[in-house]
Amino acid sequence: MQNSLQQKLGKEIEKPPWLRKRLTLTKEIDAINLLINRLSLNTVCQEAMCPNQAECFTKGTATFLIMGKVCTRNCAFCAIKHGIPEEIDLDEPINLAQAVLQLHLQYAVVTSVTRDDLHDGGARHFAKTVIEIKRLNPNTKIELLIPDFKGSVDSLNIVIDSRPDVLNHNLETVPSLYSFIRPQADYNRSVQLLKNVKRINPGTITKSGIMLGLGEKENEVLALFDDLTDANCDILTIGQYLQPSPNHYRVVEYIHPSVFAFYESEARKRGLKGIASSPFVRSSYRADELFREVLSLESGGKEIAG
Ligand code: SF4
Repeated sequence: MQNSLQQKLGKEIEKPPWLRKRLTLTKEIDAINLLINRLSLNTVCQEAMCPNQAECFTKGTATFLIMGKVCTRNCAFCAIKHGIPEEIDLDEPINLAQAVLQLHLQYAVVTSVTRDDLHDGGARHFAKTVIEIKRLNPNTKIELLIPDFKGSVDSLNIVIDSRPDVLNHNLETVPSLYSFIRPQADYNRSVQLLKNVKRINPGTITKSGIMLGLGEKENEVLALFDDLTDANCDILTIGQYLQPSPNHYRVVEYIHPSVFAFYESEARKRGLKGIASSPFVRSSYRADELFREVLSLESGGKEIAG
């Protein structure tokens, strides 16, 4: 996994004080884990070792991971296993809808591993999952964090037709680092996907996310914000990259919280509406709040109940 840039980076750098977080196990966490196991579901929270698990689980939210725990891609920052993917569980959509019902979720986030082995990239399974969640939970808002479907507009249409409330697709980092960080992805293809969502259904709220600390330059991050503005993207999450294991891409820099604040104001200046920017932010962190923020802005500041 280590590439020439990694070797040049040399010694690991020490974690700063603002990145120390204790994981406190609570009964809510146990309850969610029990439910998820009983319904044979997976969460990206657990698979990607998210630092916010305790906080989110205690609030009764989780990000469900569909189509198995094995990805067909191998991004250098990602803790999810890669290799031969698992068989699709056709009961997963109804089981997930059941979990949303039993957890009384007002806002459900669903993501997946990338399934380049499937002709539609898993678009139909995503759509079935949205339809089942809405059938059992008509008032629950649904956010999908989707892969790039290799740029297939047909697959994107299938997902959009199921009417999710928010469509999220992460750019993850700046284009100059793609060959190191996500070699099977394409920056322009990902930006085009976000543009296509707005072209196909302008009413869909779009979202993207990036990690900092991988060696990106400030002008590259600001240029990425311009690309998101150009794509009419509504929501942006910005968090610190944390190395999941010694075999993963090494952290180049721990970014100070003041820099996250700077980027938040720069993104807001460029018209992005809902922004979460701080070291522990992850794609679906405070997802429901950011959604309501955008709705409120779009309705001229009216308070949107949660
Ligand atoms: S495509 Fe997604 S799940 Fe797969 S390795 Fe990359 S980040 Fe992880």
